[in-house]
Amino acid sequence: MIAYLDNAATTRVSSAAAQAALQEMTEGFGNPSARYTLGTQAAARLKEYREQVARALGCQSSELTFTSCGTEGDNWAIFGAVERNRRVGRHIITTAFEHAAVLEPCKRLEQQGYEVTYLNPDENGSIRLSDLEAALRPDTALVSMMLVNNELGSVLPIREAVAITRRKAPKALFHTDAVQGFLKIPFTPKGLGVDLLTVSGHKVHAPKGIGALYIRSGLKLPAMIAGGGQENGLRSGTEPTAQIAAFATACREGKASMSRDISHMQELKTGLLAALKEQVPEVETIGAGEAPHILALTLPGYKAEVLVRVLGDLGVCVSAGSACHRGKPSHVYAAMGLDKSRRDGAFRVSFSGDTTQEEIDAFLTALKQAKEMLFPTMS
Ligand code: PLP
Repeated sequence: MIAYLDNAATTRVSSAAAQAALQEMTEGFGNPSARYTLGTQAAARLKEYREQVARALGCQSSELTFTSCGTEGDNWAIFGAVERNRRVGRHIITTAFEHAAVLEPCKRLEQQGYEVTYLNPDENGSIRLSDLEAALRPDTALVSMMLVNNELGSVLPIREAVAITRRKAPKALFHTDAVQGFLKIPFTPKGLGVDLLTVSGHKVHAPKGIGALYIRSGLKLPAMIAGGGQENGLRSGTEPTAQIAAFATACREGKASMSRDISHMQELKTGLLAALKEQVPEVETIGAGEAPHILALTLPGYKAEVLVRVLGDLGVCVSAGSACHRGKPSHVYAAMGLDKSRRDGAFRVSFSGDTTQEEIDAFLTALKQAKEMLFPTMS
């Protein structure tokens, strides 16, 4: 048995989502821009798919543009917002523990002469609103702050951050990367008050290769890709209808089971924490981790990379930091100011609505086994 506890990295595609993609590819394969029936029917379904994703997100379908992934949505939001706001100024505020999909575009903008303020997380893995308030300036063009941190599971106070931004820098655009929050915590873009919001399909049981950017109604963002004018002229290229169909199906299912999934994941998380306390008391939690699906842990004195490999050999999939780091030390734990032994020993366990108690039990057994096999690098 494989215990898959790395759902923040990616999720299993739901059978219904895969089925929807297959049907779209093999039967409804017309180009939505074509004028014959196969095309017009594809266009009609595309409209319905957009409405289904919009319903899951709680926005108007006209506010959603499909993208290829969360990374694209983040890049577009950031480069698009600063271009749109080029007359406002060249100052950006973000956090030091964003995903690379936000940090790397910010770094590129720094090279082009933008000034970027990186807010550091506090000991709970959140952001102090007073730090944001102090950083905001009349020339702040963009604030980009994630909704849920992918390594810690902390939920950032976006609604309050938007309110402060509107008061102190009314011309600044506000973007949130909600890739880890979508269908995991209840929110709507309007409720948060943001201008731009990114989601990604493969974190919610849709395939890789599809995501969406919410662009608040009335906001004109420069186009991401110029060409044939698809996606309302904002992102040209023939629409990937199979991925979109699967995304819409996964959203429909995810929305229907959301409150049940949240309670289930919360229960698993609470149970795992209690079991760890009793059975592997050396394990510590990192941050408050309010999101139900992410648990950041550390085994101080051990090397998480080795631990994760041994757990993998024992059939348990967890990750040492974010999967996107490819072995590089996590900037998130460093930004939180964790000491070296806690940083080195940090790993992430993440759930989905499909996660079973058997998988949790397998993780506990494997962790105890791995700990016996490994020696701490320092005690
Ligand atoms: N933002 C966050 C918070 C993420 O966790 C991820 C993926 O891990 C991304 C962005 C990138 O999304 P994608 O893999 O769809 O490009």
